[in-house]
Amino acid sequence: MKRSEILKSIQEKPDIDVLVVGAGVNGIATFRDLAINGVNVLIVDRGDFVSGASSASSHMAHGGIRYLENGEFRLVREAVQERNRMIENAPHIVRPLPTTIPIFRIFSGLLNAPLKFLNLLDRPAERGALVIKIGLIFYDTFTRAQKTVPPHRFENRKVALKRFPALNPKIKYAATYYDGAITEPERLATEMLLDTEADQPNARALNYVSVIGGKLNFVTLQDEITGEKFDVRPRLVINAAGPWIDATNATLGLSTRLIGGTKGSHLIIDNSELREAIGNNEFFFENKDGRIVLLYPLYDKVLVGTSDLPIEDPDQARCTPEEIKYFLDMIKIVFPQISVSQENIAYQFSGVRPLEYSGAKTTGQISRDHTIQVLNGAWTGQTYPIYSLVGGKWTSFRAFAEEVTDKSLNYLKIERTRHTHDLKIGGGRNYERRKDERAKKLEAITAWTKLGLGRLEQLYERYGSRVEDVAMFISQGKDKPLANLVEYSEREIGFLLTREKVIHLDDLILRRTHIAKLGMLTHALLKELNELTATFLGWDSAQKAAEMQRTTKILQEKHGIQF
Ligand SMILES: Cc1cc2nc3c(=O)[nH]c(=O)nc-3n(C[C@H](O)[C@H](O)[C@H](O)COP(=O)(O)OP(=O)(O)OC[C@H]3O[C@@H](n4cnc5c(N)ncnc54)[C@H](O)[C@@H]3O)c2cc1C
Repeated sequence: MKRSEILKSIQEKPDIDVLVVGAGVNGIATFRDLAINGVNVLIVDRGDFVSGASSASSHMAHGGIRYLENGEFRLVREAVQERNRMIENAPHIVRPLPTTIPIFRIFSGLLNAPLKFLNLLDRPAERGALVIKIGLIFYDTFTRAQKTVPPHRFENRKVALKRFPALNPKIKYAATYYDGAITEPERLATEMLLDTEADQPNARALNYVSVIGGKLNFVTLQDEITGEKFDVRPRLVINAAGPWIDATNATLGLSTRLIGGTKGSHLIIDNSELREAIGNNEFFFENKDGRIVLLYPLYDKVLVGTSDLPIEDPDQARCTPEEIKYFLDMIKIVFPQISVSQENIAYQFSGVRPLEYSGAKTTGQISRDHTIQVLNGAWTGQTYPIYSLVGGKWTSFRAFAEEVTDKSLNYLKIERTRHTHDLKIGGGRNYERRKDERAKKLEAITAWTKLGLGRLEQLYERYGSRVEDVAMFISQGKDKPLANLVEYSEREIGFLLTREKVIHLDDLILRRTHIAKLGMLTHALLKELNELTATFLGWDSAQKAAEMQRTTKILQEKHGIQF
């Protein structure tokens, strides 16, 4: 359904079962689970889909080995299982990721876990070889049965330096274990939302629609494009607004303090020497003060992160000059011979983890687990209960959504008929891993679209099995490569614009593609994409100018890109 049709349908029939507020990964996954179980569900986001914390992650599908130290065994076990499911259900986006920890000490950190348990350690400390070895043994036991990824291995200095010659020669050991790489988190969550809407007539999704109020039996929404306000009457509200959960409750007239978010920033580094040095491995490194830094292979670039700093207003999250200096210094500790400077920064981003409000002495000690906080109509004055989804990790979105859905179905007195354990996502449906079978599939598509095999392979890499839809769209009109980025074509961009609910130019360059994130954006390309978007979405010259101004401002303020 088109945006205008959805808006009209809601205004004509404002009664719905569930309103999900916030289309980050947790809101979207809950939307999906409710919809496939027959619930009449509407999801709204005040901005674009997946534009909050879910677009600021370290791109890891991981159990979080270090959370074992906080005694979060349940969380780690669940996350490792979910990591494996993601690799199975979205193989076009999530792949096994070898992760290497360079180790500089042998015994350090042995007492961290018991001291933390006894609440006697209030600051993080570097972990040595023994502690890491114990952690990795635990980690393997959680996942051994599924065999989705290989077990860990420990290497001495000599072997590790042979594999990674640029590594700091002062290391004593290197440990390598496996996690998952979510190469395109924004696309993964958006594809989950698009699948749901396409398959379930009872599921509707709107970006750029905010919750601005609510009383008695209604919630007031505002269309951020036109300014129009309208009410819906839900039986249940799910507040999945991530770091903005308390602010959203406040708009509903409720004072809560559920979130104590911490800010994390990342850089995308364009430095071929560093990229070559890490190979296909992520490097996960702990400083003497226990702070973590990761170096992660993201296509031909290196993703570097992340910080963990208290913050009050999530809208103010920005990567600061101090964080940039810290990241650049940390790279030097792992790869001292490689010179990385400010000029190598292609892109930067920052976001806020929607962690529970806590009295922990350091941010690293705040639990990464998730909970559902129920505000009941009895004291809110509303007829509908509000479930706030606090905490959680990208990795465990499916399990969290399952819990929320079970609770919601119970409240709505609807029986669960379907599960999401094995539900494939977007281009992960009928995804072909076998090279020969994939080639056969692409040859068949070549025959009816006349697109070359090389081009189809490129589209398969980008969109998985959705290649058929993309290729069909491309073949239905005159196409040519973008003048300023030949890897993409005009009709491929047209597909994203018209089939993936793009409203603003920044939706396209920041979330439907990785053009900005991977440092591919030039001023000429931005202008070209603005013209193309105007053609496909029917913008006039005033709107084109406004979009150019809006996008340039976002790029400058949030991502350090200046033209
Ligand atoms: C720096 C950082 C690194 C991380 N790294 C990892 C990692 O590597 N692996 C991992 O598993 N997890 C990671 N996480 C955690 C993970 O990203 C988050 O837990 C998860 O994305 C939270 O998703 P969410 O849907 O709850 O919130 P969000 O993605 O923030 O979604 C909330 C949405 O609500 C919308 N909203 C707010 N107010 C309103 C309103 N009034 N009306 C309508 N909509 C509204 C917002 O626009 C937003 O889109 C990381 C997080 C951060 C910040």
